[in-house]
Amino acid sequence: MRPIVCIVGRPNVGKSTLFNRIVGRRIAITENKPGVTRDRIYAEAEWLNKYFILIDTGGIEPYSDDTILSQIRRQAEVAIGTADVILFVVDGLDGITASDREIANMLRKSGKKVILVCNKIDTPKTPHEIYEFYELGLGDPIVVSAGQSLGLGDLLDEVVENFPEDKDTEYDEDVIKVAVIGKPNAGKSSLINCILGEERVIVSDIPGTTRDAIDTYFEYQDDKYVFIDTAGIRRKRNIDENIEKYSVIRSLTAIDRSDVCILIIDATQGVTEQDAKIAGHAYERGKALIIAINKWDLIDKSDKTYLEFEKEVRNVLSFVTYAPIVLISAKTGKRVNKVFALIKEVYSSYTKRISTGIFNDILNEAVILNQPPTDKGRRLKIYYGTQVGIKPPKFVIFINDRELSHFSYERYLENQIRQNFGFEGTPIQLEFKEKG
Ligand code: GDP
Ligand code: GDP
Repeated sequence: MRPIVCIVGRPNVGKSTLFNRIVGRRIAITENKPGVTRDRIYAEAEWLNKYFILIDTGGIEPYSDDTILSQIRRQAEVAIGTADVILFVVDGLDGITASDREIANMLRKSGKKVILVCNKIDTPKTPHEIYEFYELGLGDPIVVSAGQSLGLGDLLDEVVENFPEDKDTEYDEDVIKVAVIGKPNAGKSSLINCILGEERVIVSDIPGTTRDAIDTYFEYQDDKYVFIDTAGIRRKRNIDENIEKYSVIRSLTAIDRSDVCILIIDATQGVTEQDAKIAGHAYERGKALIIAINKWDLIDKSDKTYLEFEKEVRNVLSFVTYAPIVLISAKTGKRVNKVFALIKEVYSSYTKRISTGIFNDILNEAVILNQPPTDKGRRLKIYYGTQVGIKPPKFVIFINDRELSHFSYERYLENQIRQNFGFEGTPIQLEFKEKG
């Protein structure tokens, strides 16, 4: 089931122009027959490797005798009934009209995801007039010129971000999902090819699915792995959009689907803000993480080089202290084996379960070693804890009063848990709950 995107809006705002722009990049070449492109109101489109169905509701009944208002009402109903995401197009030069308000009201009530598209802004600078469209109560308008092909990338980013989760991409529980992430040219494809080129790695089709092979499934020894979203990485296509931005968005969606992320940092460039952004997303999503510093073969090394580099990484990526760092050369293959071994190791941390008995022994020990804080004569009491989840490991700890619990003590407990149980490479989550 592909997601469905419907374009709605009153006549002449530019719906069909927008439709042809979005679809045209892929289909116009093959369907270059007169009459075919013109009347098409339904087509398959693609953005960032996400395929969807695009419908121009304006073309559904172009020759109807009905009043314009009842036509656009019906079109909005079609969109509300079928779409996953609705593009509501308004004319940025005309300002808000009564029909715009009518459609906006219907769409707002529907509870569907609606993107307000302010068309015909043919200049790079956004005019003040578009601010009046906030009045429609549909959030930030996305400014485009369908005629000049301006702003369409941002619009499509927003569209695909709002798609429902793709059920097809679910794998068996025991398949280790790995996202190789990082800036363009950091060495992602080199690393992936290096791993897949290992003698005992068996690359095969993804079992039980017929979807486009954007993931790469492989087995090694007795373990099953999949590299997530390798389509753009393994066979590099020419993408005319801003390549940096494109690749970051891709990284983010790959992170969402993964268990283990390998962040590739280009040693010749140092750790950049973009690396921090990508790592930050892995952290927020609670993913296991390995930091691979690549192109180590190009670095002039002294005995301190590694320590200095590690310090820089720890400094810029201070929120992911749990992530192991490995220095590699995807080109020569140096220590690529180590990365492979780490995937399994951090995945085992990511899925580790600690028995309640042993967990409480460690909690009690930690409390004896370092008494919980007091506030106005009352002391924080730690009653009991238990693991409630994996991927990443999550623990609930029952206490007497949330207000008495301080960040520094929670941090101390996390460190104690890590010292005793390892959890190399994975975030762990501690939730403190008051016991009534
Ligand atoms: P629809 O009736 O909503 O499908 O609108 P159309 O796509 O038929 O466009 C209506 C008119 O607006 C046509 O003359 C288009 O050339 C023009 N138009 C569409 N998009 C733009 C744009 O971005 N800028 C300008 N200046 N004109 C546009
Ligand atoms: P991606 O865009 O992240 O997939 O990066 P690629 O794997 O395509 O690598 C970008 C460039 O860096 C290519 O020319 C590679 O040959 C080169 N490269 C990748 N890894 C290494 C490495 O470890 N050492 C050296 N010297 N070059 C590398």
